[in-house]
Amino acid sequence: MTLTDTHTHLYSEAFEEDRESMIQRAIDAGVTRMFVPSIDSAYTQQMYELEAQYPENVFLMMGLHPTHVKDNYEVELAHVEAALAKRKFAAVGEIGIDLYWDKTHLKEQQHAFKYQIQLAKKYSLPINIHCRDAFDEVFEVLESEKGDGLYGIFHCFTGDFEQAQKTIHYGMKLGIGGVTTFKNGKIDQFLKEIDISHIVLETDSPYLAPAPHRGKRNESSYTLLVAEKLSEIYNMSIEDIAAITTENSKSIFGF
Ligand SMILES: [Zn+2]
Repeated sequence: MTLTDTHTHLYSEAFEEDRESMIQRAIDAGVTRMFVPSIDSAYTQQMYELEAQYPENVFLMMGLHPTHVKDNYEVELAHVEAALAKRKFAAVGEIGIDLYWDKTHLKEQQHAFKYQIQLAKKYSLPINIHCRDAFDEVFEVLESEKGDGLYGIFHCFTGDFEQAQKTIHYGMKLGIGGVTTFKNGKIDQFLKEIDISHIVLETDSPYLAPAPHRGKRNESSYTLLVAEKLSEIYNMSIEDIAAITTENSKSIFGF
């Protein structure tokens, strides 16, 4: 069984003490494909080192996270652009808009999002979207960039049915993770109306651990718990969920 964690921050400080055993636990659980989103330039070197250590299992994205869009964001965008010009990445991400923590840089967030979508198109790469309290703002940018060349994953999708339809219409798969296992998570109530061909699995570790680890540190091996929840929702075997969602991830990343 091959499981694909399409969004995991393996370089996080949360794994400082046991990173290698944590990654080994994931591989042992069948999570042999781990896609690592970028946040800002501070983590790039560590990401390269992880990729060199686990070339069969760790695949990198490059991008500037919306909560890291600050006054110096143009310097950060130049770093993203230079990295994309220099070598191959699996996607441009994570990029998007986050109005939960801070609305001060909305204009800059919108600009950085749009600019990075254009970079993804230039290099024929998918995008990995981060959206928090900003569905309207994210959809506005996607609307202006929709069409050929726009595709990817809407990471940690937590919207409603209508927003799910809209997201799919823009060429995105829905990244489904620990929130699906929460009692008040909502998304489990309509997910079975969404065809499984639009779903990929993720953890967003070290954040958003699925039940029964809710509130604790998340890790990529818990992708299996998300697959278990989806096997209940879709009434399919875990093996089928793993196979289908891994195929879906391949159709996005190209491998
Ligand atoms: Zn993330």
